[in-house]
Amino acid sequence: MTHPAQPKASHFINGEYVEDTAGTPIPVIYAATGEQIATVYAATPAIVEQALSTAKEAQKAWAKMTGTERGRILRRAADIMRERNHELSVLETYDTGKPLQETLVADATSGADALEYFGGLAGSLTGEHIPMGEDWVYTVREALGLCVGIGAWNYPTQIACWKGAPALACGNSMVFKPSETTPLCALKVAEILHEAGLPAGLYNVVQGMGEVGSALVTDPRVDKVSLTGSVPTGKKVYAAAAAGMKHVTMELGGKSPLIIFDDADIDNAVGGAINGNFYSSGQVCSNGTRVFVQKGIKEKFLARLAERTGNAVLGDPQDEATNFGPMVSENQMNIVLGYIEKGKAEGARLICGGKRADMPGFYIEPTVFADVTDDMTIAREEIFGPVMSVLDFDTEEEVIARANDTEYGLSAGVFTNDFTRAHRVIGQLEAGSCFINSYNDAPVEAPFGGVKASGVGRENSKEAIKHFSQVKSVYVRMGDVEAAF
Ligand code: NAD
Repeated sequence: MTHPAQPKASHFINGEYVEDTAGTPIPVIYAATGEQIATVYAATPAIVEQALSTAKEAQKAWAKMTGTERGRILRRAADIMRERNHELSVLETYDTGKPLQETLVADATSGADALEYFGGLAGSLTGEHIPMGEDWVYTVREALGLCVGIGAWNYPTQIACWKGAPALACGNSMVFKPSETTPLCALKVAEILHEAGLPAGLYNVVQGMGEVGSALVTDPRVDKVSLTGSVPTGKKVYAAAAAGMKHVTMELGGKSPLIIFDDADIDNAVGGAINGNFYSSGQVCSNGTRVFVQKGIKEKFLARLAERTGNAVLGDPQDEATNFGPMVSENQMNIVLGYIEKGKAEGARLICGGKRADMPGFYIEPTVFADVTDDMTIAREEIFGPVMSVLDFDTEEEVIARANDTEYGLSAGVFTNDFTRAHRVIGQLEAGSCFINSYNDAPVEAPFGGVKASGVGRENSKEAIKHFSQVKSVYVRMGDVEAAF
């Protein structure tokens, strides 16, 4: 019997599901059991061509509609997503392995927030009037044209919406390629957008590995590329986009610092560290994986952290009592287990976890290392799994320098009850998305993105509008034209 997760077809182009079984088969593996639950096929060159040509053509009429008309469709799609939240959350759990307890509140709901927010903004995207004496300049905020979105595997619904919603609000069309590890959810986003009245051809989904992504990025018809992925992929995609002088948004990896001063509320700080390391089993780009704890509270912090980490419930992700799921894939599990071994070999002190859980599927126990030093591999490289490194520090000045000593700059957090210190420290941290006495909140109203190697551009908020539109400036002369000859 066909599994309920199996989509009608692999791709969604020009308002309908499209199949081409000549493409490389991509098995969809349920991370909680290791069983294959669906198959999709990578896009062939014919499918890529169909998606790009249809998106290029459809964009022209879409950009001519009023923002209010475009926004109405996005807001309707948001309502449909919320009505279907349970079904979409179950699918997200099959696609990623993340527990239903999380997907019910963090995925389709977050996608719906983006559709609603950008739907609401669409009618207000206006230019400026700039007086120049009797003359004047006016500006027009125009669509970029055809945008390509490429997703990572940790938040397939959210990423499809965070890219699609602002792109469509601004009058662009989109071809979205989900990660080959989680190909299912973006198809539902496309289906719902069309059910809400989106004209055919404006939001298309094609499957495939890096080659398909590369074919999309290098096509001369594409005006913008928005990638969520790792730094090495980001460098390749950015370079390919630059060759065609295309706009880019790069949402890449991180190794973010979470700094806990000894005057912090310990339970809140432990809660922040848990959210910033173990939510989605640690598969979150903005995670605060270098937890710097001031020496005075170190042992108290570790004891409370170990105690609370013991409350993690590993189990069937479709059971709402489960609060800790598997790694997305066997490959990702092996990468993370490799880092855990390095942590042990390089002398970090294992506080809890540290191994694969004794159950089917790709589960790793939530793992905490203490006495981690700045030069250890687990403190330098992005692990993308449930591995927290706790490092000690003495002074504010010291911890700021150490926190910034990384190529990354996605996020940073500070826990302290001294509010002047909180702002002083945040002001000096090299990171795009920061938190004070909290960690990993990502509402659509707030800009999200990184500095340094963690990325270029911002998603969400009004900032995203700037990255999916461009400004035309028009000088209007009221008098005669003076010329030298
Ligand atoms: P990845 O870099 O391996 O792949 C990302 C996407 O790029 C996939 O869809 C892949 O098929 C595609 N791709 C690969 N090579 C390509 C190429 N040459 N041209 C075009 N596309 C190509 O990343 P992943 O393993 O799927 O995701 C994990 C990474 O994503 C982590 O580093 C994580 O930090 C990052 N991430 C960042 C954010 C953020 O918003 N900053 C969010 C989630 C994940």
